[in-house]
Amino acid sequence: MKVGIIGAAGRMGRILIEATIANPDTTLAAAVDVPGSSLIGADAGELVGQGHAGVALADDLAAVVKDADVFIDFTVPEATVKNIEVCRAAGTRLVIGTTGLNDEQIAGLRAASEEIAICYAPNYSIGVNLCFKLLETAAAVLQDEVDIEVIEAHHRHKIDAPSGTALRMGEVVAQTLGRDLKEVAVYGREGRTGERDRKTIGFETIRAGDIVGDHTVLFAADGERVEITHKASSRMAFGRGAVRAAAWLGSQDKGLFDMQDVLGLAGDSAGWGKG
Ligand code: NAD
Repeated sequence: MKVGIIGAAGRMGRILIEATIANPDTTLAAAVDVPGSSLIGADAGELVGQGHAGVALADDLAAVVKDADVFIDFTVPEATVKNIEVCRAAGTRLVIGTTGLNDEQIAGLRAASEEIAICYAPNYSIGVNLCFKLLETAAAVLQDEVDIEVIEAHHRHKIDAPSGTALRMGEVVAQTLGRDLKEVAVYGREGRTGERDRKTIGFETIRAGDIVGDHTVLFAADGERVEITHKASSRMAFGRGAVRAAAWLGSQDKGLFDMQDVLGLAGDSAGWGKG
């Protein structure tokens, strides 16, 4: 499978170049970042210390969009929205890792997936996707007898909060319990908050140092509590998963998928539009 990376000079982009080269099912075919970057024109393999890959870092997706079967985009929402349109026009598949997309941007992504295959996941780590499944089970068993809080920690450079993964964890739990996350989510607390309403789902965010990504969902009852925790120690966890998604997406013509589909875990509420 010929794979292109968008945002290739970024933290995740570099990992994705490495993961694409390392995966026996994928070949690095294109790499794109923003115009004006001093790295434009550099060889993508050399950029990550993997030797010459024969792929120069480009500054215009439209110019290279036909070079790959599938592109992987880990950039910023405004860029991802434009990249979706370029891929849609070219009929090229897209794996999206960018987080922080708003409802309108997600609606655009859904519309594009009627013409091309798109995989969109807030977290491509295999462990996190297993946790989505475990959360479904925990919520189904514990039901409305527990207080539920989602606690996440990331590095100081992260620009959105709560993390896309924390929100998805909240969604999985809310959908399993028949609640609408938009109505029950509480983001941070301060001052005289009053007693906790059991139907709410709380989110707490920590931004510090170089934390790659920690997530805990706490189910607390009177007398006992259950915590489901995932800790990422390297971005390669996301890189490997996203490249696996790209290889999988190659066999799809159109539609919106997520990592639950890629891993064969798609169930009642852990994936897109399934709850
Ligand atoms: P980063 O800032 O290090 O890298 C982003 C890169 O995108 C930069 O090199 C930037 O120049 C480039 N870029 C911006 N606009 C562009 C455009 N129009 N065309 C091409 N390139 C463009 O950020 P990062 O830490 O690599 O994270 C990128 C995104 O991936 C964030 O939204 C982050 O939350 C998300 N992320 C998702 C997962 C997941 O598993 N889904 C995991 C980690 C990070």
